[in-house]
Amino acid sequence: MSNDNKKALIVVDVQNDFCPGGSLAVANGDQVVAPLNQLIKEFLDRGDPVYKTRDWHPAQTRHFQAYGGIWPVHCVQGTRGAEFHPDLSTDPRVTVISKGIDERADGYSGFDGTNLAELLREEGVSQVWVGGLATDYCVKHTVLDALKEGFEVKALADAMRAVNVNPEDGTKAIDEMRAAGAEVVGDQKKAAGLS
Ligand SMILES: [Zn+2]
Repeated sequence: MSNDNKKALIVVDVQNDFCPGGSLAVANGDQVVAPLNQLIKEFLDRGDPVYKTRDWHPAQTRHFQAYGGIWPVHCVQGTRGAEFHPDLSTDPRVTVISKGIDERADGYSGFDGTNLAELLREEGVSQVWVGGLATDYCVKHTVLDALKEGFEVKALADAMRAVNVNPEDGTKAIDEMRAAGAEVVGDQKKAAGLS
């Protein structure tokens, strides 16, 4: 098979703290698990690489309200909140990418401070499919960085949900991803947190 259109799946931050009951819960965040599990299986069955990013913060980081940031404490390294949602695929062929480790940075993007771009290039990937949590922060920044790194991007609206600090944030994020060159597929109202 030719590598000309090799794809990879990037599953962004499907962690307990971003799902209902978590410290920074995204409404309906757990609904991304089933469509992403299906895609994880399809990609792995074809031999295409899959990456799961995780927010992996130190206990003290400029990202948290107590230290000058905008967010409540979430996804601290080694805590239950930082674990992946219990129903998310644990297939050992999936590569875990830890991000948000630098206490001076937000680390929204899966490419920020990680070797993800290098891994994708080593695999000969030209197109990435991106879904997860949340539409308006870590998914958006991962999509925008993937485009900057030269990858084609398919943004999976059915498999992302928004945190919507402001009610329009999810919608704006989708517009921004599309304007930057991503192909947005699926139900954009779900992705924006409007349904
Ligand atoms: Zn974070």
